[in-house]
Amino acid sequence: MDLVLNEEQEMLARSAREFVSGRSSLRRVRQLRDGEDADGFSRDLWREMAALGWLGITVPEEFGGAGLGWTDQMVVLEEMGRGLMPEPFTSTVLLGATALLLGGSAAQKEEHLPAIAGGARLVAVAYQEAGSRYDASKVATGAVKSATGFTITGEKIQVLDGHVADHLVVSARTSGASGDVNGITLLLVPADTPGVTIARQSRIDGRNAALVRFDGVEIGADAALGEVGGGGALLGRVLDRARIGLSAEMLGSMRAAFEMTNDYLKTRIQFGVPIGSFQALKHRAAKMYIELELSRSAVMGAHRALDERRDDATIAKLASLAKARCSDAFVLIGNECVQMHGGIGVTDEHDIGLFFKRARVAEATFGDAAFHRDRSACLEGY
Ligand SMILES: Cc1cc2nc3c(=O)[nH]c(=O)nc-3n(C[C@H](O)[C@H](O)[C@H](O)COP(=O)(O)OP(=O)(O)OC[C@H]3O[C@@H](n4cnc5c(N)ncnc54)[C@H](O)[C@@H]3O)c2cc1C
Repeated sequence: MDLVLNEEQEMLARSAREFVSGRSSLRRVRQLRDGEDADGFSRDLWREMAALGWLGITVPEEFGGAGLGWTDQMVVLEEMGRGLMPEPFTSTVLLGATALLLGGSAAQKEEHLPAIAGGARLVAVAYQEAGSRYDASKVATGAVKSATGFTITGEKIQVLDGHVADHLVVSARTSGASGDVNGITLLLVPADTPGVTIARQSRIDGRNAALVRFDGVEIGADAALGEVGGGGALLGRVLDRARIGLSAEMLGSMRAAFEMTNDYLKTRIQFGVPIGSFQALKHRAAKMYIELELSRSAVMGAHRALDERRDDATIAKLASLAKARCSDAFVLIGNECVQMHGGIGVTDEHDIGLFFKRARVAEATFGDAAFHRDRSACLEGY
């Protein structure tokens, strides 16, 4: 497996870096957070990202996408992570578009994928429930078969960007009991359907999640994504791809935090010398660098495996490897970077704390390091 970027990907990385540094400063990220922006992201910037082709990188050209590979998407995600961009890429592209790509009928793909790739439609995936933690099969929300389709009742938590979503992909139980992978159906619900209530919540990194209630929501039979009762396995495949994508974003964020701190070590003077000349800090910086490079290999390995269309069992193992490694590395780097900045690092005025907070949230999204180490062991048969 080739673990370096090719020439086109290097060019894509350069242009993405220029775009992010030119259009999305950390000052903008703060303004969105502190100004309590109604959306929590920039719709203008989202349209620009669509025009660059970023929202449909892995979407085939026949559905309005660029028809490129997952490693191309990795390159762009890494740059978004460097700039801590809060635009709804994880929810709409990594989760929503992937669910449609893997489970959508031809009609569903034609209706939604061009709109997503064009920046006109936002999709959120509502799959977590109170007490479900990282187990996506713990679904109590029910979808009862009605004369015309399904009636959905239940509550979902931690719905990323749920407050701005035009459509929601909901995991609901059509048979079986909470904890069964079988019997879950994914349903595509317009967010303005009567009976849907969305309450916005803010996370410590300033990004958005929502509580979403479904009170007897009536939806047609054609809302099902994939097979009725087969949504658990489909959701598992979608989550693994989202984990791999999020790991790329985390890689970019930890690299930016590391570089910011490396600069500080070279410029902050104590006792007449740069603090980076002290061996104790050099060793800690070297440890961060090694963790970064190991994370890069894990993230790129998982993306290459997707491009090589490896089987789902292999993808699941590589997704857990990448997410476990990036969770550990980003939290370590976030902690170390704040400490190396000394007192100023814990103030909100300094940017390094933004990465520290993002590390905590990204770690807990789609399963933390402990969850993925345990999952890896199970998948390897231990
Ligand atoms: C929550 C909080 C509350 C505080 N409350 C008070 C208070 O009530 N009163 C008060 O006076 N101050 C207070 N402070 C300030 C605190 O004492 C200083 O922030 C602290 O001493 C760090 O100093 P500094 O920011 O200059 O960082 P530095 O001490 O310069 O450290 C910066 C980096 O350099 C490294 N470093 C520094 N010197 C060496 C060395 N010789 N060898 C190896 N590495 C080195 C450090 O490990 C660190 O990574 C508070 C700070 C915080 C975070």
